[in-house]
Amino acid sequence: MSYTVYKVQIKKSTLASFRRRAIRSKKEILAYLVGYVSDNIFVVIEVAYTKKYEISTPENVKWFDKDYYKVLADAQKQDLDIIGDIHSHPNCDAIMSEADYNGTALGNVCGICAVYKTPKNNNRSLIRFWVKNSALCCDLEYLQE
Ligand SMILES: [Zn+2]
Repeated sequence: MSYTVYKVQIKKSTLASFRRRAIRSKKEILAYLVGYVSDNIFVVIEVAYTKKYEISTPENVKWFDKDYYKVLADAQKQDLDIIGDIHSHPNCDAIMSEADYNGTALGNVCGICAVYKTPKNNNRSLIRFWVKNSALCCDLEYLQE
């Protein structure tokens, strides 16, 4: 039996920056992944953030459409695309919720950063990337800084 291994390539510092923002926020945060897809590899060149969300709660987050389309237009100018997104799960596992699954387009990647408070009140985080057509999470590979 063989199965497809999906891979996400991103700079460690780019991911660390998302992680820091996720840990600081009590609400979900969401950023879009700008890059390109090559075979089964998602290459993330840039993570796009917004200054203001349309919806922002501990369980839900949404961008204003106009901000999303601005990121998309900027990506396409550089011959790149929005290849997925990454959002946080405050006090919840780094797996796709039903809404995440339904909201992820086939061929896109869905990054989830779980943020946990430990008894000593340190924040721990765990990031996993998922695609819709695989039960396994994607392999993560750090790009050279
Ligand atoms: Zn989610």
